Amino acid sequence: MKTITENLKNIQQHIIDAAEKAQRNTEDVQIIAVTKQVSIERAQEAISNGLRHLGENRPEGLIAKEEVIGKQAIWHYIGSLQTRKVRKVINQIDYLHSLDRLSLAEEIEKRANQVVKCFVQVNVSEEEAKHGLSVEETIPFIKDLAAYSKIQIVGLMTMAPNTEDEEIIRYTFKGLKKLQQQVVDLQIPYAPCSELSMGMSNDYAIAIEEGATFVRIGTALVGSEGSVSE
Ligand SMILES: *Cc1c(COP(=O)(O)O)cnc(C)c1O
Repeated sequence: MKTITENLKNIQQHIIDAAEKAQRNTEDVQIIAVTKQVSIERAQEAISNGLRHLGENRPEGLIAKEEVIGKQAIWHYIGSLQTRKVRKVINQIDYLHSLDRLSLAEEIEKRANQVVKCFVQVNVSEEEAKHGLSVEETIPFIKDLAAYSKIQIVGLMTMAPNTEDEEIIRYTFKGLKKLQQQVVDLQIPYAPCSELSMGMSNDYAIAIEEGATFVRIGTALVGSEGSVSE
């Protein structure tokens, strides 16, 4: 069983290599340790290893870990968020990675005590089972958010298809990067859109080559309960 320390060392080397390949600064890439499948103790171990960003995809998991870890971490909500659960989490998180509909924005507007940093989730690969807006829908959606004073669009988020085909994965990440640049060019005050949340255990190196500023890594970093290895 590998420790987080070992896994992190490995991952950091991959990040350095990928950044170098793309002539990017490693400081521009943040690791989000996705702790959704591990215990509070394991999440604390991530913190002891100097990781600051933690990602959870269920309100219950987030609240339980935050009660113990609190402000030592920056909290990312990375899963699809049901409208009725907004009240429970919206004032407990620093970033929401899954804004994908106006009804969610509306509920955030109602429940948030302050401006929420949001990523718009884009289904670049247009897989049926995936959440997120299509590429074509994204800019009109962002424009529609003008009415919501609590929403700030800090970036775009996507998940690549679960495939061995590196070209398909790369194409997905390139698509998100291109779309991000289009949003930046619009210079919308509430949508600076400087961040790109893309890349997971199997594809974070490709994501970094294509411009990711946040990679969301679970299995390869903290493992998953029962098999806390790899
Ligand atoms: C679980 C999850 C991750 C992490 O996945 P791994 O393959 O374990 O690294 C990243 N992003 C989202 C949205 C997730 O749900």
